[in-house]
Amino acid sequence: MPEIVYSYQDLETLVKQNYKQPDLELLQRAFELAKRAHRDEYRLTGHPVITHPLAVAYRLAQMKLHLHVIAAGLLHDVVEDTDITLDDLRQQFGDDIATLVDSVTKLKKMKYQGVERYVENMRKMFLAVASDVRVIFMKFADRLHNLQTLYAMPKKKQKRIAEESLEIYAPIAGRLGMNEIKGELEDASFAYLDPKEYEHMRSIVEMKVREKGVFVSHIIHQTEDILSQNAIASASVYGRVKRLYSLHTKLVRYEGDLSKIYDLLAVRIVLQDVEECYTVLGLLHQKWRPVPGRIKDYIAQPKPNGYQSLHTTVFTENGEVVEFQIRTREMHEIAEYGIAAHWRYKEGGNKPSKQLRWIEELVGIQKEIETKKDFLDQLEILKIDVFKDRIFVFTPKGDVIELPEGGTPVDFAYAIHTDIGNKCASVKINGSVANLDTSLKSGDIVDILTDKNRKAPNADWIKFCKTRHARQKIRDATRHTVKGWITHVMQGREKAKKSVKHRST
Ligand code: MN
Repeated sequence: MPEIVYSYQDLETLVKQNYKQPDLELLQRAFELAKRAHRDEYRLTGHPVITHPLAVAYRLAQMKLHLHVIAAGLLHDVVEDTDITLDDLRQQFGDDIATLVDSVTKLKKMKYQGVERYVENMRKMFLAVASDVRVIFMKFADRLHNLQTLYAMPKKKQKRIAEESLEIYAPIAGRLGMNEIKGELEDASFAYLDPKEYEHMRSIVEMKVREKGVFVSHIIHQTEDILSQNAIASASVYGRVKRLYSLHTKLVRYEGDLSKIYDLLAVRIVLQDVEECYTVLGLLHQKWRPVPGRIKDYIAQPKPNGYQSLHTTVFTENGEVVEFQIRTREMHEIAEYGIAAHWRYKEGGNKPSKQLRWIEELVGIQKEIETKKDFLDQLEILKIDVFKDRIFVFTPKGDVIELPEGGTPVDFAYAIHTDIGNKCASVKINGSVANLDTSLKSGDIVDILTDKNRKAPNADWIKFCKTRHARQKIRDATRHTVKGWITHVMQGREKAKKSVKHRST
């Protein structure tokens, strides 16, 4: 990823283009102060230090975030690296900008090394997102530019920064639906962490583009013709190439079988509204036969991070297959910039939106675990499941059990041990007796009371259990009981009824 050096003029031009009536005086003042504060300092790349805050501000302006965020981007390193104080900033730029700079500065101070550093990093990031999500956008922009200029760093530092970006920053960007930034963070880190594999992926992509580029541009032309024949105006149709790290992980999943990767080159169609999306899907399927099982409606059923699009893979005339991704302009912006797209132009009122509740929850749990001094033991659990819709609950001894959202005490019991599940009689949640089908919440302390004379679990529990694991265990344990057998058969009939109904409509 080559470094682009931006001037103040470049930034101002972009701001004029992306904002209505921007406060250019504010922007200029922030730039002048940063430039003065960082004067006579140079980066390892040989460029003056001011090129760094300029690049960060430019990136934030591309994301169309509020102008306060852009100004704070220009000023983000002055408190830490120069003799300008937070009070100076507060006086000259007001509370909002000063607080943003302060939060980013705090995020930078790391006391620890190794695993502890990882934990500290993760915790700080979550705390920052929970208190003001704009801070994380600044942190991403900062990190992206540092990755672009990593070539000038000593080897050891290169590795640490790249690792941190891949393991902490990229997954968080992904969870926030910021796919564009996630992809950039991953590819930039990948190049330093596994240069050989990175080159290998690059050669695969180059080869495919050479091989199929002409074909794809032919498909694009045909698609544009179809759209204009059907009076669908102001659509944009273009080819998109899969990112290298994403290709690498997918290839690992398919054991290196390149023929299974359909979306290396895809055609993207960006449209006005949802209706047009479905219309165009239909038009494409009239022209080209869809590959069975490859139609995905992420509009009706968005991915957990909010991603929306229609995907389909079709056979074209010469037997080649090509994937289409169809979405509205709004979906496109959200797919690229995630929650940042919702955050545009917003000032103040920076509490996280509903989708960010999981982050708040996690922060709470982290505090709790930390006081129990076993945070490190739980690190693996956090690392894996932070990014899914999971809840974290505790045993009376303080062990953390993770469950899917809506998990019940029975799921919890089976997660601890099959015997505890099978002999489970009642439950206390946070000290009070509760029903076994209660939906647990993150942070609950769950105490399962067992009955050692109990022969088998209640077959009805299957109806409210959320984990496959618990359902399977209940099924195994009740297969021999009469009630279990009846429940089993009834469920089979319910399913059959449903599928008949489905077919007749
Ligand atoms: Mn910086």
